[in-house]
Amino acid sequence: MADTRYDVIIIGSGPAGWTAAIYASRADLKTLVLEGEQPGGQLTITTDVENFPGFPKGIMGPEMMKLFGEQAVRFGTVVKTETVTEVDFSGPPHRIITGQARYESDAVIIAAGARARFLGLPSEIRLMGHGVSACATCDGFFFRGKKIAVVGGGDSAIEEAHFLTKFAEKVTIVHRRDELRASKIMQKRATDNPKIDFLWNSVVTEVIGDQESGVRALRVKSTVDDSEKEVPFEGLFLAIGHQPNTEFLQGKLEMDDAGYVITHDGTKTSVEGVFAAGDAQDHLYRQAITAAGSGCMAALDAERWLSTRHG
Ligand code: NAP
Repeated sequence: MADTRYDVIIIGSGPAGWTAAIYASRADLKTLVLEGEQPGGQLTITTDVENFPGFPKGIMGPEMMKLFGEQAVRFGTVVKTETVTEVDFSGPPHRIITGQARYESDAVIIAAGARARFLGLPSEIRLMGHGVSACATCDGFFFRGKKIAVVGGGDSAIEEAHFLTKFAEKVTIVHRRDELRASKIMQKRATDNPKIDFLWNSVVTEVIGDQESGVRALRVKSTVDDSEKEVPFEGLFLAIGHQPNTEFLQGKLEMDDAGYVITHDGTKTSVEGVFAAGDAQDHLYRQAITAAGSGCMAALDAERWLSTRHG
């Protein structure tokens, strides 16, 4: 019979999940990583990662996640490419159910990450990584001297636009209304920045370009009179929000209105023995390095909690 009992089960395999796995398995805990639908997480859909310390020449996101995984496996982490469909936190032991099997563990670390919201245009998907991005911190550097558009009207859109003005010649915030959702202080930051302008009452209906030369223009539709026009841009950043991958946890532990797991005293959740790390609980920083850091914290918290139980 397959081994289904672990000390720690980690749900998710981005920087938070793998770092938690490295720490947990090095602490001699019997550790299982359930990789989920997108093994490696969001970094597998980015290209160069240039801001993770230790890689002075940068590293490709998928390669970095492969290395993280290998490091965890070296210390004994068991890895299954399975997606969690259901949890039963009435334990410990807690029960984790995937499409293929049922597992049990005393401690659980949720590191299921988040996903950027997209507009849902085929052209946007085709040009992802070729001029279309959902992460200014990750990709802004590649847009030096270019004219780019940021879609969204919330704090993220302003923050991304402001950051992008370090590199870009001009950043246009494309918003579907004529009023920003962003906080007043962020609005002021945008209007004070001479490199930022606005295209109001507008939605992007097509990204024009090709994978070889990148984005050339956006087709933009007016939300007032439905008229369409083509506007030249060399890049498109989406900042219409993120969605934590926590649907399977609904009703099982405390989450905020947007679905982010609420943590306290480090990485503890509202359920004893269940910890959370990375983008599933952090909507503020959302960086590989901060996710890795919180993965480490979750493993240390789990280890301490297990040792107080078992002595
Ligand atoms: P958000 O506040 O939900 O804003 C999303 C924006 O995208 C809204 O302006 C929305 O338009 C627009 N949008 C949504 N779907 C769209 C679509 N399909 N097409 C076009 N536009 C669309 O999300 P967020 O900006 O990511 O912020 C999330 C949370 O993090 C907020 O609580 C925010 O305050 C916080 N945050 C804070 C900071 C900071 O303080 N430094 C920075 C980033 C984020 P409508 O306005 O028309 O709905």
